[in-house]
This record gives sequence, C-alpha cells and structure tokens, in this order.
Amino acid sequence: MQKYFHSNEKPQFIIDIYTIGYTCKGESNLILIESNDGKFNYNILIDLYDNGDETVSKILREKKKKLNLICISHYHDDHLKGIEKILDEFTTPCTTTLIPDTDEPKALKTRSKIVRKKVSNICRNNKKKNGTIKKITEPEMCILDEIHSYDDNDVLFSIYTKTPFSSITACNIDRNLKNIQQNDYAISLDINLGEFHMFFSSDIMKNSINKMSELGYIHYLKIPHHGSSHSLNIFDKINIGKNTRCAVTNFKSKGLPEKPILDSYLHNTPYVYRINDCSENICGIIHMKIKYNAADGRIFFQENLIDAALC
Ligand SMILES: [Zn+2]
Repeated sequence: MQKYFHSNEKPQFIIDIYTIGYTCKGESNLILIESNDGKFNYNILIDLYDNGDETVSKILREKKKKLNLICISHYHDDHLKGIEKILDEFTTPCTTTLIPDTDEPKALKTRSKIVRKKVSNICRNNKKKNGTIKKITEPEMCILDEIHSYDDNDVLFSIYTKTPFSSITACNIDRNLKNIQQNDYAISLDINLGEFHMFFSSDIMKNSINKMSELGYIHYLKIPHHGSSHSLNIFDKINIGKNTRCAVTNFKSKGLPEKPILDSYLHNTPYVYRINDCSENICGIIHMKIKYNAADGRIFFQENLIDAALC
C-alpha cells in the first residue's frame, strides 16, 4: 500500500478520530468524516465523559457539526457524563441514537438513570427535534449501508453494531439479575469507508470479542476496557497489522491500562497510543487525522496528541 499524498493533492476523504480520556476515568470517541467535494459528511459520537460543554462540544461547535449517529455503548458512569446535553444541542431530526438492549433499572447508577430518563423523553416527545432512538437487540445489526460515487468510483460506507447474543444475556438475567453488568450489553461499532476500517469497542465482554474474527483487517482500533485484562484476547480475534493505530484510555482509580497488557499489544503494532496519567479535570486527546483515497487505497495517518503518547 502506498502511504503518501503529494502536497498539492486533495485526498477523497478526511477522517478525524478523537479518542478522549477524561479525568483519568471516563472516555469518548468522536469520528468526523468528510469528502473533499463537501457532499458527504457524517459525524459519530460514541459515549461521553465531560459536562457536555467541554471537549466534544467545543470541537463540534468550532467545526459547525451536528451528529448523525450517537452510540450510548452501555449504561456505565464512565461513558455517560453529560451525554444528555449533547442530545439536546447536537442532534437533528435525522440523528439516530443507539442504546443497548437492557431494561434493568435496578442495576443502574444515578448518572445512568439521568441519561435513560433523557432517552425515554426523546422517545415520547421529541422525536422531531432529536431524531430517533434505536435499541440494539441483535448480535449484529446494520445501521447504515450506502454507496457513494466519487471520481467514477463507488465507495461503500457501512456501520454495523456487534453485541452479545441476546439469548446469552437473557439466560444470565434468568439466573441472577443482580449479577448482570451493564458491560454484558455493551455495543461496539464496526465502521467501514471503502477499504478503510475502524472498530470501536467500549467495554465489550468476551462473547462480543469472540465475534471479532469476522471483521477483516482493522486500521483503527479503540481498545476495550481501558486496557484491562478483559481486553487481552482481542488480538487473537482481530486482524490488525503493523500500521494499525490502536488507542486506549485510562481509568486511574482502577489502575488501568495495565502495563503488561499494553506491552502485549505492542507485539502487533508499534502504534499503540494511550492517554497520559494526569490529575483531576484534565482530558487527554488522541487525535488521528486520516487522509484516504478510496480509488487506490492510499491511507495517510497524521497524529496530534494532547496529554497522550505512544506506549
Ligand atoms: Zn469503561
């Protein structure tokens, strides 16, 4: 694969991926995709952990973007803070918000309850203003699958969700409701633009990781579970290479990411990025700007790290 673009040449697509780790215990992913003719524009937010008026909002306001897709991967506090404000400000009637297939309010903490309340309000009243809510109930669901034409080339853009098999979760609920973790329902997103392939796994469990062998070559991977041992077997299942970019956030009070886990990732690619250890109220950003030509498959990565580093 050729890697470089001439300086006077415009790539067909620019993909900006921001993997953000907040105050050492929460995370968010923002993906902005734009074609050079300006006709194609698609913006995705997966989770949030700020007050809804900080990093993600600033980027969206500065770039004058609204969100096409929001994914609430699971109802855990380190993935939800402030997302209800995003649902107010950055949605349109065309926005789709994905939520996991869980109706177990007993297991939810306060912040999760606030977000669920907001989500159910949208379902009831605000459909026109905030778009639609879609509950992910199957192991794999197609959210979007469309073909765009650029310079006489057809480019496929697709988004799939991967979740645990509902039968497994249902069976676990029957056994012991109290043991059910929201992680058991966590949604991961498989996003493809032509041959460029991204995979965002929040805190997905083993039964989701086991299904990743079907994915094909991954160019950008958000490592699950803030780099805990739960994510260790991911590279047995996933197809990545020496140019794959991997990003991991931290969860300081739980000692994550674990150093031996990060070292094991480095056997697969030298490009493993992590958010720095930092004090309270700081967020680190792994910003990857990707130039991509679907016609000849050229990809160019440019990293911009703020309070983040290569492992
Ligand atoms: Zn988490």
